[in-house]
Amino acid sequence: MINRKSREEIKLMRHAGHIVALVHQKMKEVIEPGISTKELDDIAHKIIKENRAIPTFLGYNGFPGCICASINEQVVHGIPHENVKVKEGDIIAIDVGATYRGLVGDSAWSYAVGEIDEDKKRLMKATEESLYAGIEQMRIGNTLDDISGAVEDVANKGGFGIVRQYGGHGVGHNMHEEPFLFNYRVGDRTVIKQGYAIAIEPMLNLGCDEVVVADDEWTVSTADGKASAHFEHTVIATEDGPLITTKIME
Ligand code: MG
Ligand code: MG
Repeated sequence: MINRKSREEIKLMRHAGHIVALVHQKMKEVIEPGISTKELDDIAHKIIKENRAIPTFLGYNGFPGCICASINEQVVHGIPHENVKVKEGDIIAIDVGATYRGLVGDSAWSYAVGEIDEDKKRLMKATEESLYAGIEQMRIGNTLDDISGAVEDVANKGGFGIVRQYGGHGVGHNMHEEPFLFNYRVGDRTVIKQGYAIAIEPMLNLGCDEVVVADDEWTVSTADGKASAHFEHTVIATEDGPLITTKIME
């Protein structure tokens, strides 16, 4: 069952999302060649705690960090580590969740480390564009397939691979709720209703669609070793249109 968020729940989700956005604001500032993913994790943890929230990812199915930090060919679920440092030319996707008074904000963003090549720039731009194309379809009366299709069209236009095994999801009291949202058309005619909250999160690849999971049982990478980008917002369908919760509250 897909639950509809009440006014009060939406208020708390915006608060949780604001905290997640504060983390991203800081990530953008501190990501530079030489910083380790453990340092980034510590910074995220501090911001979440200071704002009286709980790092949603920490301990989730045993995950050891507050953020997922996935570099270059890594798609998602990279584990923060002091020995993993970014270098000039890398792209790094930071995925972070915060739980505030029981409600979750979930958002991922890909960042360039210094100067990156044209292919990576193109990939990041298209993935972000596909996210906003998806968000635009998060409207009462549309279907889940409208979102999936909008993401897919942007990916196909640029000739990018679309990760198939992972996708968006309902979010609220839990990080992962119904429904699952594909990043390509599957014919899901589920109608979006007022109060549905979904984390929309395209993962696009420079090369093929296929991914592999590392021996650590977390890190997902592209099968061909080419770069991947990931952008995600938590979005609620409201009478006024799509409401992105994971942004800085004015
Ligand atoms: Mg996420
Ligand atoms: Mg998510």
